[in-house]
Parts: sequence; structure tokens; C-alpha cells
Amino acid sequence: MSWSKQQIQLKSADQVDKMQVSAEILASVFREIRPLVRPGATTLELDQKIESLIRDAGCIPSFKGYHGFPASACISVDEQVVHGIPNDQALQEGQIVGIDIGLIKDDWHADSAETLPVGEVGPEAARLLAVTEECLERAIGAIEVGKRLSVIGTAVENHASKNGYAVVETLVGHGIGRALHEDPQVPNFRCYTMPDPVMEEGLVVAIEPMINVGTKRVVTARDQWTVLTADRSLSAHFEHTVAVLADGPRVLTRRESGIAELRAKRQES
Ligand code: MG
Ligand code: MG
Repeated sequence: MSWSKQQIQLKSADQVDKMQVSAEILASVFREIRPLVRPGATTLELDQKIESLIRDAGCIPSFKGYHGFPASACISVDEQVVHGIPNDQALQEGQIVGIDIGLIKDDWHADSAETLPVGEVGPEAARLLAVTEECLERAIGAIEVGKRLSVIGTAVENHASKNGYAVVETLVGHGIGRALHEDPQVPNFRCYTMPDPVMEEGLVVAIEPMINVGTKRVVTARDQWTVLTADRSLSAHFEHTVAVLADGPRVLTRRESGIAELRAKRQES
């Protein structure tokens, strides 16, 4: 047994079911918050709504106070990659907003993110959102018991680079369970420096590609939290909590795609 394997906490079927309960609450928080993402809304208002939805469901926000993070959600606009701190600036038509939320129910964490358009967005932003969501789906589709974890990063990198986009390498996905961040680390790119364990039944991971229109390089803002693209190009982020099971991956935080939902709404009106 390799040292890396010893750190991985595989979950029993019963534990996966408990994580599913947390994850379904998280999916419902996203469904409720989507209609509020519109021009004029502030990210602080979104965060307050998210926190009250989490607490009303008898859960605890995973991020609030985590290493001192001041809010319940990380909300990252345009060139902000992840870890944006909600503030009182109003969202504007054409922006993209990444919302990353974690919650704890009965000791079990769920973690998920999606990036949404604010009103009508330009073609590059729309394409970035679609491709980033596809990167996550391809990564999930590559999961199989007995395969190595690196199939995830390979799937993301292949799809991003085929579309002319860059994958952020300095932040990665992670195991999840009773802790928000567990082993293994889950890179979104072909990585030769991290352990590459074989996936076993009961592995639960948060897969979270961060895709940039320009350079893959990122910098941290003066607030010590917000991660930005070094060239200030647009960046998108999607994340699901996924259980690796014998009959295939189970996406615990599954919900209808926000992009598909908006498309359907537009066709209705
Ligand atoms: Mg997250
Ligand atoms: Mg995460």
C-alpha cells in the first residue's frame, strides 16, 4: 500500500447515502439562488440568501470561518477564478459569476460550484461557460473503479486545450467526507508530481475544473483570498461532489445544468 492510499478515507454505501443527503440540500440551494443572479444584485445579497437557505435546512456552511474566510459562499466575478469574497458591488449585465458553496449536514460535507451568466453575456463568455461545464462532465465520464485518478485531469485538459482554453494548475479538486478537504488531491490537468492512486469503490471526490480564456497563470489579490487570472482574462469554475461506485460514478450534487435551464427559459419567452 502506498503512502498516498493510506490517507484516502473510502466511504461505505451507508456513508455515501449520508453524503447524498448533504449534496441534495446543496443542489436545492443552487436551484433557489439561480433566479437571483441578475443585474443589480450584489454578491453580498447572494451570500446572505445562500447562508439562510443552508441554515434553514439545518446545515452549516462549510466555508464560513474556514481559515478565516468571511462568508458562506465564494463568489467570483469575471476574471476572478475562485475564492472571491462577497461584497456590495452590483452585478452588471454581461458578467459571469462563479458561485462555490459547501455545507455540512450531520457531519458530512458537500461541495459544488457553478458559473452563471448575468443577463445576456457575450459569445466568448457563453462559450467559456459551456466548455468548462463540459470539462467537468467529461472528467466525471472518465471515472471508473480500477482506473487511475489521473483520467480526470487528462479528460479536463484535453477538452479545454481542444477549445483553446487553459486549465488552472495551482488549485485542484479534493477528496471530501467528514472533512471538506481530504486526500487525494485531484488535479484538473496532466500532473506528474502528485500521487496518482487507483480509484476504489467508496472514493468520494470534489472535481472542480477552473478554466481560463487566456493564460493558466493566476495571482492572489490583496485581500489574500481572491484568485485572479494573471492576464485578467475570463475564468469559469464548475464543481460536483462525486462518489466512485462499482456501477459507475454517482454525482451526489447533480441538478439540472444552469446553462440548460436558462436556454429553456429563453425559448419559452
Ligand atoms: Mg467548492
Ligand atoms: Mg472544492
